[in-house]
Amino acid sequence: MRLENASKLVSLGRPSPVPGAPVNSPIVLSSTYHANGEIAYGRESNPAWESIEEIVGDLEGGLATLFASGMAAIAAVIETLDAGAKVVVIEDSYNGTRHFLDDLSSRGRIVVQNVNGLDLPSVESALDGASMLWIESPTNPLVSVLDIGKLVELAKSGSGEVLVVADNTFATPLLQQPLSFGVDVVVHSATKYLSGHSDVIGGIVVTADEPLHRRIVERRMLHGAVMGPLEAFLLLRGLRTLDVRLERSQENAGFLASKLAEDARVARVRYPGLASDPGHKLASEQMSGFGAIVSFEVGPLIALGEVREGSSEWVAAETEADRVCEAVRLCTFGTSLGGVETLLERRRRWAWEQMTPPGLIRLSVGIEDAHDLWSDLDAALGQSVGKK
Ligand SMILES: *Cc1c(COP(=O)(O)O)cnc(C)c1O
Repeated sequence: MRLENASKLVSLGRPSPVPGAPVNSPIVLSSTYHANGEIAYGRESNPAWESIEEIVGDLEGGLATLFASGMAAIAAVIETLDAGAKVVVIEDSYNGTRHFLDDLSSRGRIVVQNVNGLDLPSVESALDGASMLWIESPTNPLVSVLDIGKLVELAKSGSGEVLVVADNTFATPLLQQPLSFGVDVVVHSATKYLSGHSDVIGGIVVTADEPLHRRIVERRMLHGAVMGPLEAFLLLRGLRTLDVRLERSQENAGFLASKLAEDARVARVRYPGLASDPGHKLASEQMSGFGAIVSFEVGPLIALGEVREGSSEWVAAETEADRVCEAVRLCTFGTSLGGVETLLERRRRWAWEQMTPPGLIRLSVGIEDAHDLWSDLDAALGQSVGKK
């Protein structure tokens, strides 16, 4: 029977339907197993991991491997590189990925080149001699939309075979399946939408390449970055409702983005669901929805590189954005994203967010009532913007 994703999320990864068997994958708390069975030891596998891997693998169109965190999943993929390999990475990729790559390159293990993913000619020239291209779309926190198909084409057209890896955390497999565009490996921070309740740290790698999949599983055994059975239970439980959570979050995000876009107190809104957004057309083609991350800027609009850090305009943008984050009541001021609760933060407060304008607030829109969310943001903007 052919199933839609909403049905797969609910029905896959269940124990066999024999009379008396539990409907849910049980929590198996055991580090070791009776000999000569399928699992020998807890670092190899766990029944709940397998349920999650069955679901996410099916949705992405490959073989999934569960890890203890998104970073563990990312590290496992990067660790498959040979010494001296060159990695081309989109410059506004997740900060942890860039930090990890820079750390390896500073110790002479690999060579790293950062590129602007929207500038295809510069990506093409950077790919010369590269072994891996690391992409992410939509990006964090600028919410830019990259042309995945074109980037894959560039990576595969050169002399060497460049392995393309896509971080699909923002889109989830429901909105975008990078493997279908020819991407070789997908990674997820399952901490975000897949679990959806801000109560688990987890990560997943998916690939349709079987030898590579075996190497990834081997990385997990060797590095030992495994998820505990209780976390796996929480992740699996969250995953069952991904479709409805995302649908509501996305609807709310569209509503808030249009409210913010028409508000004079807001300098700029970045959300590919807005017809005026530079990524709108591309996102309409390569995604089946626009996601639930909305970034917006308050204070004077700052063009990076043109306005000096610490200047009065810069500080004004920073101060207004900080005030908005402190003033919300229903939304939560905090980092992370993809949970049922609406989270927001001024991203530039982090030292590594050098590509982010000072007044940019990233909003991870949750599943609360859309009008309540707008009332909260409206009041927070009223208290914060244009006030001395
Ligand atoms: C959070 C995040 C990660 C890192 O995942 P953890 O689960 O925190 O280790 C990687 N990529 C993206 C896009 C993320 O948002």
